[in-house]
Amino acid sequence: MTTYSAPSTLTPILTRGWGEDRSWTLESYRSRGGYEGLARANTMTAAEIIDVVKAAGLRGRGGAGFPTGLKWSFLPPDDGLPRYLVVNSDESEPGACKDVPLLMANPHALVEGVIIGSRALNCHHAFVYLRGEVPHAYRRLLSAIKEAEDAGLLGGLRITAHAGAGAYICGEETALLDSLEGHRGHPRLKPPFPAAEGLYARPTAVNNVETISQVPEIFRESAEWYASMGTEKSKGHGIFSLSGHVAHPGQFEAPFGITMREILDMAGGIRPGHHLKFWTPGGSSSPIFTEAELDVPLDYESVVGAGSMLGTRSLQVFDETTSVVRVVTRWVEFYQHESCGKCTPCREGTYWLKQILLRLERGQGLPGDVDLLEEIAGNIAGRSFCALGDAAATPVRSGIAKFRDEFEAGLTTPARELFPYEASANY
Ligand code: NAD
Ligand code: SF4
Repeated sequence: MTTYSAPSTLTPILTRGWGEDRSWTLESYRSRGGYEGLARANTMTAAEIIDVVKAAGLRGRGGAGFPTGLKWSFLPPDDGLPRYLVVNSDESEPGACKDVPLLMANPHALVEGVIIGSRALNCHHAFVYLRGEVPHAYRRLLSAIKEAEDAGLLGGLRITAHAGAGAYICGEETALLDSLEGHRGHPRLKPPFPAAEGLYARPTAVNNVETISQVPEIFRESAEWYASMGTEKSKGHGIFSLSGHVAHPGQFEAPFGITMREILDMAGGIRPGHHLKFWTPGGSSSPIFTEAELDVPLDYESVVGAGSMLGTRSLQVFDETTSVVRVVTRWVEFYQHESCGKCTPCREGTYWLKQILLRLERGQGLPGDVDLLEEIAGNIAGRSFCALGDAAATPVRSGIAKFRDEFEAGLTTPARELFPYEASANY
């Protein structure tokens, strides 16, 4: 029986106080130092605020890791017309589960970050775009905005929380802006990037919930304090969400550079009686890893160097009872369903990937199917209009690269016969 010891090498900053009674209230947030960062930022000019965020080395937590201060500095000089801060809270990457718990337990970190960010950008109206399927997070954010407003903390800033209708593509920043404007969510051509032409064709910074929620602590402590965590290029810390066949799944907040082995140890390891087969460092759109990559530092550069990407830090774990073909099929079904249909490689390609994978899963594959999968995936990746196409091709390519035998077996044997004891997991 595996014993579970409380995490010791974690950095509970955003997750500090999550277990406290009514941690989401203004009173509780203030008891943890909440809104002290805003008080400090209020003594600075917009340019000074951006310089602090740059010095901290904060990088976007939505997946791409783009430097936040740099993104803010891309907005053209204030011409007196509206400019916007839009928070992307449409978390929906399979395996990602950090922004919703963050909003539920600590919504004032986001509200405070939005106020500081809006000051840096000279913006007077900020938006938070949330998944429509999580009304509880929407309600919690609304109440936090109201509390902050009643306490006079907004200083004239208007914050609008907007619930989407549950389309994965609306997490892509330009599709999100289309949706916010009331159109069907379709990605726009980039450039122009939103920094130059975003919401209502005005300069707009689009940032992830966790990114903005990190901003208050940088001002409450210091840029140097923040930059002292993590690695040389991936500074600071982040929330890693761990799911699947582990003893204790959940959110683990740790500095960049921690390894999967360390996180697994803190989570009590693989569920008792089983062993690791494969895992994802950044959700279903990141190439899969196996035991060989357990000691890869989880920072943006090292994970890319090892052949995958850190993305949303969604660590999904699968033990030996799992059919890779079945997992990849479920992921591709998701991407096919969520493809917006705007471009041909993704719209048609995901459909054909799904058809072939389904017959391999049933043990009814045709000769040449595995090569055909690789060919179709190769024609989607790099040829699609937005990142969703690449995301759909990735699990197919990396699954075949690491477990080709299982795909070949699908020509004759159903996955349920090869993996009869497969337990239901979070995929
Ligand atoms: P990207 O690299 O194209 O852009 C990242 C950010 O930097 C964007 O805000 C973009 O506007 C900005 N940017 C980049 N170059 C710029 C320039 N020259 N000028 C101004 N701004 C510039 O990445 P992306 O397509 O926005 O996001 C891809 C990531 O999304 C993937 O890594 C994946 O991990 C992640 N993702 C997250 C979820 C989720 O649920 N959180 C879901 C799917 C994908
Ligand atoms: Fe739409 Fe897919 Fe093309 Fe993106 S890659 S624009 S989701 S069809």
